[in-house]
Amino acid sequence: MIIIMLGAPASGKGSVAEILSAEYKIPAISSGDIFRKNISEQTELGIKANEYMTKGQLVPDDITVSMIKARLSESDTKNGMILDGFPRTVKQAEALDQMLEESGKKIDIVVNLETPEDEILQRITNRRICSNPECKAVYNTVLHPSKVEGICDKCGSKLYQRDDDTIEKAKNRLVVYFEQTAPLTEYYKKTGALYSTTLSQKINRMKEEVSKDVIEYLKNK
Ligand code: AMP
Repeated sequence: MIIIMLGAPASGKGSVAEILSAEYKIPAISSGDIFRKNISEQTELGIKANEYMTKGQLVPDDITVSMIKARLSESDTKNGMILDGFPRTVKQAEALDQMLEESGKKIDIVVNLETPEDEILQRITNRRICSNPECKAVYNTVLHPSKVEGICDKCGSKLYQRDDDTIEKAKNRLVVYFEQTAPLTEYYKKTGALYSTTLSQKINRMKEEVSKDVIEYLKNK
């Protein structure tokens, strides 16, 4: 099973990916997480990626594609994977198609999470994440706060705000999203793999419900 998660920053891709990962027993691979790990370990890749990430820009395609290629060659992806945050440009989507074709695989579904535009910025800037790498639970200070401010309900570790979740960087990331990533919906519409759905607090349609619908859709596909 190969699943691609599409959607604006903080649209809930990671949360839905986690549920689908447990359902299908395949790894959820977040390109942003891989970059952040490399940044914290100060690897060559991390130092390079950080130049772009701190500005809310995309890491160049060649760097990102080689990073993903290396990750997809790991053995835990042999039964499938969920890609969260990759591809983010048409060039990356084409590179992914080529990689999959070479290994005789194909994308089963592209889950495109739509969020009302006025909700996106709020979701990004109020997002808080558990600092425990084994937990990584996600909260929202308004919509879904932790019981004790700044502390994870699940594991008791401290919550933090991502460097790029501040208002200025978030605005920039949204411009980048609409210019470079949103066109991917057209790309995947043509392949027949696109499944668009809404995840929104406004209409009270959250990760559990969206994931259930995706699982049901795949059963009947
Ligand atoms: P995310 O955690 O998915 O929000 O990604 C955080 C940041 O990592 C993005 O704003 C980009 O700077 C970088 N990044 C993650 N995935 C990609 C990608 N597929 N292509 C380029 N840059 C990426």
